[in-house]
Amino acid sequence: MQLGALLAVEGEKVLVLEKSSRIGGRAAVVKKDGYTLDYGIHLVRFGPHSALAETCRRLGREIEFIPLGTSYVQDEDGVVKVFPTGPKDFLTSRLFTFRERLKIIAMISRIRRADMSNLLDQSVASWLEENKITGGLRRYFHLVSASMLVCPFLEKASAGELLLNMQKVLRLGVSVMYPRGGWAPLFDLFSRWIKKRGEIRTGAPVEKIAWDKNRVQGVYLQGELIPARKVILSLPALQLGELLEGAVAPDLLEQWSRLRPTAGIVLEYGLSRPVSGISGLAYLCRPVSFGIFTSNIEPALAPRGKQLLTWLAPLPVESFADKAALAAAEQELERALFSFFPGLEEAIEWRRAMHLPVVDGVEVNIDQTASRRPPFKVAGLENLFLVGDSTAAPGAGGDVGHESVLCCYRAIREWERN
Ligand SMILES: Cc1cc2nc3c(=O)[nH]c(=O)nc-3n(C[C@H](O)[C@H](O)[C@H](O)COP(=O)(O)OP(=O)(O)OC[C@H]3O[C@@H](n4cnc5c(N)ncnc54)[C@H](O)[C@@H]3O)c2cc1C
Repeated sequence: MQLGALLAVEGEKVLVLEKSSRIGGRAAVVKKDGYTLDYGIHLVRFGPHSALAETCRRLGREIEFIPLGTSYVQDEDGVVKVFPTGPKDFLTSRLFTFRERLKIIAMISRIRRADMSNLLDQSVASWLEENKITGGLRRYFHLVSASMLVCPFLEKASAGELLLNMQKVLRLGVSVMYPRGGWAPLFDLFSRWIKKRGEIRTGAPVEKIAWDKNRVQGVYLQGELIPARKVILSLPALQLGELLEGAVAPDLLEQWSRLRPTAGIVLEYGLSRPVSGISGLAYLCRPVSFGIFTSNIEPALAPRGKQLLTWLAPLPVESFADKAALAAAEQELERALFSFFPGLEEAIEWRRAMHLPVVDGVEVNIDQTASRRPPFKVAGLENLFLVGDSTAAPGAGGDVGHESVLCCYRAIREWERN
């Protein structure tokens, strides 16, 4: 939707084909009993400095981003402590011992300046060991890896990618923020631009790419060829197999189908009364997970006097084969939330539980750093492009998706110039 709007603003006629009955995909917004629900936690890293903000600016709209308040963690000992997000917290948080505070201050100043490129292939686990990081510091980096990369699996998570992201947060002085009014106004903005000259068709599942030699002719929809000058695919690369079968080298498709996404359980609660005043991120050490009281950040998302809580526990995608284990993980997570937030259980008006085998299109791990992910222009087909959060765009988690919009846009314009 972002890329469609960006092309439309320059006068291009864009046709969006969406197989489901509504737009938004994994960022879809729904209304429920007076609440406005994102699809799980949906924050924007770097707020006004994000690629999303840049895209909106090109569409003539300056988005207001709401900063988050203090973050908290329920530590392994069950005590709730400040989760450090700035220099003052590093000096005072009870998550760290005195020695750990000194160490993290020294590390943060090193992270600000360091060249991370040689750490991309090193796992967070090995980096922690090499730097003798233990105790509260280790738990801190574990939770940062869980929330920033949606990858708490330290043997897999890339130390370089993690530290690059931390470096950018330190440089900009901004971490995650939330768009004023939520995500619905953003989708309205994109839709309006696309519909100026083009069209958005829902209930329109694309069956296949139509191609001849090295050029895409368009796409097939219910057997009918819809011609197009260029085609942009915006779904996780691991799901592209059927659409591209025969058009793209089989080993490439096979490679994409093996991309490992982030995955997890989402729990959302509509609460009849306020249960917590936390307006930053909240973290659990067991199970490693995090969440927000979304309506503490943007009150418009819940009816007056009520509260909206959203939580994500990242899990390895392989665990989705075992339904019973997933159900047990959901119960364990809920028990931990009830212990973290006294009064939560009694205040529940409704709950939504989602077991999601794809949260982000790729996990930013040592085997899937940016240069190893699918490019924006598909080799061998000159007018076929890829966008989304499994591509070679920089960043982690959803940022990859937002960054991919600008990267793909540049790839399209470069192809047109040549
Ligand atoms: C629980 C959760 C939390 C997240 N948190 C954040 C966050 O905090 N911040 C952030 O920036 N991002 C976050 N993300 C990621 C963000 O939602 C995605 O990066 C973004 O939605 C990707 O958009 P997309 O258009 O590339 O892909 P998708 O959202 O997957 O959209 C692809 C669309 O293509 C449609 N489609 C599939 N096949 C076909 C077909 N054959 N024909 C037609 N249509 C088809 C699908 O129905 C879907 O609507 C989160 C995602 C999840 C699931």
